[in-house]
Amino acid sequence: MSLDQVVVVGVSAAGLTAAETLRREGYTDRLVLVDGDQRPPYDRPPLSKQLLRGEWEEEKLTLRPPAALEGLDAEWRLGVRAERLDLAAGRLALADGSDIAFDGLVVATGVRPRALPFAVGRPGVHMLRTIEDALALRREVVPGAAVVVVGAGFLGTEAASVAAELGCRVTVIDPLELPLQRQLGPRIGQRVARLHRDHGVQLLCGRGVADVRETDGRVSGVVLDDGAEVAADVLLVAIGAEPVTDWLRGSGLTIDDGVQCDEFCQAAPGVVAAGDVASWLHPTLGRLRLEHRMNATEQGMAAARTLLGKRTPFAPVPYFWSDQYDVRIQVYGRPTAADFTAVEGSLDEGPFAAVQRDASGRTTAVAGWNMPRQLRALRQALVEQQAVRC
Ligand SMILES: Cc1cc2nc3c(=O)[nH]c(=O)nc-3n(C[C@H](O)[C@H](O)[C@H](O)COP(=O)(O)OP(=O)(O)OC[C@H]3O[C@@H](n4cnc5c(N)ncnc54)[C@H](O)[C@@H]3O)c2cc1C
Repeated sequence: MSLDQVVVVGVSAAGLTAAETLRREGYTDRLVLVDGDQRPPYDRPPLSKQLLRGEWEEEKLTLRPPAALEGLDAEWRLGVRAERLDLAAGRLALADGSDIAFDGLVVATGVRPRALPFAVGRPGVHMLRTIEDALALRREVVPGAAVVVVGAGFLGTEAASVAAELGCRVTVIDPLELPLQRQLGPRIGQRVARLHRDHGVQLLCGRGVADVRETDGRVSGVVLDDGAEVAADVLLVAIGAEPVTDWLRGSGLTIDDGVQCDEFCQAAPGVVAAGDVASWLHPTLGRLRLEHRMNATEQGMAAARTLLGKRTPFAPVPYFWSDQYDVRIQVYGRPTAADFTAVEGSLDEGPFAAVQRDASGRTTAVAGWNMPRQLRALRQALVEQQAVRC
């Protein structure tokens, strides 16, 4: 199908890469880039790391210099949200009342943080997805502040590590028994718990938050599900995220934990999706929706190529990393909550490289703790296994 009007909705890691790929692969016609954010595209992983720590200022997060963005020869519609999609008519309605015709569409609207209903909008309560969120949190994680983090996933534990390093009194609360347990299993969870305790963080695991206390119009604590109270000057809610698909309601696209795509990242004829919002059929791993930075870039490329008729199944080895204190945790593959087994070093101390295997003994994921070189070698084993299963 030949295209002459392509619209990209969501111009961050995935959408920007899709736009660049379209141009690189020879698409020369009209290209419209729509994003609800006023800012030019920026990177999100540093929000909970260098930006929160105060090491970097926001300018450093910009994904491309202005000349590269201009070089895309695109119509930029920043600060305007897409509101409704009419697939049959090939039209996209924007929040400013305008609409745009298209014959090719890239959906890359990412995810938004899940809220704690009783904490929404209260002064001192934070979530972390945008530069504004990170700067607002940074202003409040000052030495001595009592910081409560709800959620011991990657985002919560990472932000907790920064707050602890900045001299805050940090408490992390999670209904599971260990931090990162759902993502990396109990043994690595124990190691992460120890890492945080060694830095003075109080972990209240196996507990839920039932309510928020407010004093003089500002958060002053949380009430746990067993009635106990924990004082808080700052509350960070990090309990996961949900795909941004409300603007696609009634469009005819299938939405179910993200935009449902085939193995080519295609959601409908002329419509592709990429990044955190896309749920696609990985040829060997089954249906996946990843909230991983590298996946956003790779899938942006794959989706753009599909739009241009250069269809190849999108079959990456998933990759994620997290920085906590002086530790970099890296994970390839699709880990479950089962235990990892060390293949180098020990899960209990020092650096390690570890694997997770399925019931038939096949390696399904590899994880490293300050062991980047060994992990790259283990990744190769995963690639080969994935190929064998094809
Ligand atoms: C604090 C933080 C730390 C992270 N750390 C790591 C890490 O260490 N390692 C890692 O692998 N990953 C990490 N991630 C995840 C990684 O940043 C994401 O996977 C990546 O940003 C996804 O890119 P995306 O383009 O799919 O979505 P996003 O970056 O979320 O971009 C979506 C874009 O769509 C726009 N948009 C949404 N709705 C609309 C609409 N209706 N109309 C127009 N525009 C719209 C938004 O404004 C946004 O610009 C982190 C994420 C966060 C928030």
